[in-house]
Amino acid sequence: MSFSELGLHDDLLRAVTAQGYTQPTPIQQKAIPVVLEGRDMLASAQTGTGKTAGFTLPMLQRLAGGKKPGKRQVRALVLTPTRELAAQVGESVSVYGQHLSLRSHIIFGGVGQQPQVDALKAGLDVLVATPGRLLDLHQQGHVDLSSVEILVLDEADRMLDMGFIHDIKRLLRLVPKKRQNLLFSATFSNEIQALAQQLLDNPALIEVAPRNTTAEKILQTVYRVDRDQKRHLLAHLIQQHGWFQVLVFTRTKHGANRLAEQLSKQDIPAMAIHGNKSQGARTRALGAFKSGDLQVLVATDIAARGLDINELPHVVNFDLPNVAEDYVHRIGRTGRAGSNGEAVSLVCVDEHGLLSGIERLIKQNLPKRIEPGFEPDPNAKPEPIENGRRGQQQPRAKRKTDGQGAKADGQRRRARR
Ligand code: AMP
Repeated sequence: MSFSELGLHDDLLRAVTAQGYTQPTPIQQKAIPVVLEGRDMLASAQTGTGKTAGFTLPMLQRLAGGKKPGKRQVRALVLTPTRELAAQVGESVSVYGQHLSLRSHIIFGGVGQQPQVDALKAGLDVLVATPGRLLDLHQQGHVDLSSVEILVLDEADRMLDMGFIHDIKRLLRLVPKKRQNLLFSATFSNEIQALAQQLLDNPALIEVAPRNTTAEKILQTVYRVDRDQKRHLLAHLIQQHGWFQVLVFTRTKHGANRLAEQLSKQDIPAMAIHGNKSQGARTRALGAFKSGDLQVLVATDIAARGLDINELPHVVNFDLPNVAEDYVHRIGRTGRAGSNGEAVSLVCVDEHGLLSGIERLIKQNLPKRIEPGFEPDPNAKPEPIENGRRGQQQPRAKRKTDGQGAKADGQRRRARR
C-alpha cells in the first residue's frame, strides 16, 4: 500500500517522500482514509507508530481543500498534554504542509506569550496547543475558536492523568458544535470512554499495537542489584559497554536530578529532563541528546511521554515504574525503525512486586542477571518505595512548581476563578 493509494494529494505526497517515508505505517493506513472522509475517530496508538502523520496529513488535505477567502481563521485545533509534544506535532504540521499555503503555530506555557499573540493576530489555519496557555490567551481575548472544523486530542489519557479535564471541557465550549473530532489515547480507561462518549459522533475505532511491545526487537534484561549500588552499576554498564544515547527513567524528579549529577561527576555527560525544568533547559537537553552530544538523558515518565527520539539504542529503568503499563511505554522507545534496542532494568529488593506486575502484563518472564562485583545482599530487607509519580500527576492547578511558565499559568487561572 502506498501513500497515494490512501487518497493523499500531490503536495502532501511530495512532503512525505522528502521525509524518506516509502510506505504508510499501520495506523496511517487505517486513519488517513477515515479522517479524509470527515469521520470522527477514536484511535489507540502510541508515539512511535507514526500517529502524528496519521492525523496531520489528512487534516491538512481537508483544510487545503476547504479554504475560504478572507482572513485566516483557526480551522484545526490540536491539543496535547505537554510542551514537547506540542512542539513535535507543530513541527510535523510545518514539514508535511510545506507545499500548502496554510499557516500554523504552536502555543504552550513556559515561554513569552507575545510571539504567540502576534501569530494569532496575523491569522492561522492550524493551532497546536497545550490547554493551559491556550485558555489564558483566550481569556485575554487573543484567540477565536469559533471557526474550528477539526479538533484533535492527542495523548488524551495523559491529558486526563495530568488533570486537564476541566481545561478540556472549557475549551469544548469554545469550539463549534459541528466539527470533526479525533481522539488519540494509549489506553481506554473509564474516563477516556466517558470523554469519547461526550466528544465523538459515531466514531471509527482504530487500534494498532505499539510498534515495539513485541519483544522480538528489544533485548530486555533485569539486573538484580542493591538499592544503593544502582548508580554505580549504571555507570559501570555504560562505561563497560560504551553505551551512547541512553535514556534513563527515574521515578522522581529529585531522583532524576541526583542521578544526572552523579553520572556527570563520573565523566558520563548526563542531563535531567522533567516538569520542574524551564522550557529552555528541556529543549537544550533534548537537542544535545538527539544530536549525540549528550550521552545520557535522565527523565521521569511524564517528561518523556511524547518525546520523539528515534532509534534509541538503550533504555534503562533505573527505577521500575509504579504502573506496569509505563514499562511498555518506556521500552517502546528502543529499536525504532527496524533497528535493535536494549532495555535494561535495575531492580532492587523493594521492587520485586513491581517486577512481577510487569511480567504478568507482558506475559513473559524477563531474564535476570547479576553483574559480578554488584551482587545484591541476600539478606536485604525491602523498604517502602518513595512515591514521586503521584506527586507529578497532581492536577495542574494543585501543583506548586512546574517551571516558571506553569506557575504563571496557575496564578492567572486562580485569578480567573
Ligand atoms: P509518531 O508516532 O507520530 O511520533 O512518529 C514516530 C516517528 O516515525 C517519527 O519520527 C516519524 O517521522 C516517523 N514516521 C512516521 N511515519 C512514517 C512512515 N510512514 N515511514 C517511516 N517513518 C515514519
